[in-house]
Amino acid sequence: MTERSIGLEDVFRARARLAGRIVATPTVASPSLTARCGVPVFLKLETRQTTGSFKLRGATNALSALPREALATGVAAASTGNHGRALAHAAAQAGVRCIVCMSALVPANKVEGIRALGAEIRIVGRSQDDAQVEVDRLVREEGFATVPPFDHAEVIAGQGTLGLEIVEAVPDAELLLVPLSGGGLIGGVALAAKALRPGLRVIGVSMERGAAMHASLKAGRPVQVEELETLADSLGGGIGLANRHTHRLAASLLDDVVLLTEAEIAAGIEHAYSAEQEIVEGAGAVGIAALLAGKVTPRGPTIALLSGRNIAMDLHRRIITGGLPCPA
Ligand SMILES: *Cc1c(COP(=O)(O)O)cnc(C)c1O
Repeated sequence: MTERSIGLEDVFRARARLAGRIVATPTVASPSLTARCGVPVFLKLETRQTTGSFKLRGATNALSALPREALATGVAAASTGNHGRALAHAAAQAGVRCIVCMSALVPANKVEGIRALGAEIRIVGRSQDDAQVEVDRLVREEGFATVPPFDHAEVIAGQGTLGLEIVEAVPDAELLLVPLSGGGLIGGVALAAKALRPGLRVIGVSMERGAAMHASLKAGRPVQVEELETLADSLGGGIGLANRHTHRLAASLLDDVVLLTEAEIAAGIEHAYSAEQEIVEGAGAVGIAALLAGKVTPRGPTIALLSGRNIAMDLHRRIITGGLPCPA
């Protein structure tokens, strides 16, 4: 199905595959944001997903969609972030061997985190690109399968199951705020939610520092941007110059994209903790941050999708105690 377009039926098929394998996460009212914004505001707590992010949905769906023969050797990937965690867990659940390749520069706690989820670790070279070369070799020469983090029809359909849960939880939703990086999350969510609620607005939220999809939408084609350090580290990286699905989906489905400063993202993390009692990573806090910063104008019931919680706890502690010197 990779060359035909992705539809609502693919998302429903993903939901059936994922039943019992992922958490159907809660959507809760936010009294504090409701008071501030003058419309009902809800938080979709995908922070509570197994492995700490929504990436488990897409990875699990993509693995289950592969024929058993394709997984006979195993699956390999180079992500040390939320996609790597998700794929390691999904593979362990399916009884499939998983190798995560990473460079010698990846910190020990991240290495152990992925190993604890059941993956084998292969240390190669000194960069993410070196690790990817080894993944490509495992696929080419040893018959491993691989699952990319966003630009893949079954990954997008898996993330789209969040869109179904959101419109079921808040049927009269007017605005949905979704973190945006490669666009697998917002592509799937907007596809599903807008098919069921055509009037719903979907706005992507990225950081000012290195927003690849925002630049690619402006250019009308995938473009590269410089990758910069940001509190929303899960939103870093490009969309791929040979992008097949997510650029087109974002161009046709998004009502707007807004960009946040580092100080605004920090304020989102802080608010999530002190007003909502939620530990949220930078990427997961951008919907709240956009509301707090007044960068979006809700006209009716609004949902912020909190996409993940995997933040280094010493960094989190510094942010909530105001001890972070913020650029911008
Ligand atoms: C991957 C990720 C995103 C962005 O998802 P895309 O599909 O790349 O747009 C947002 N938040 C978290 C926590 C993530 O891990």
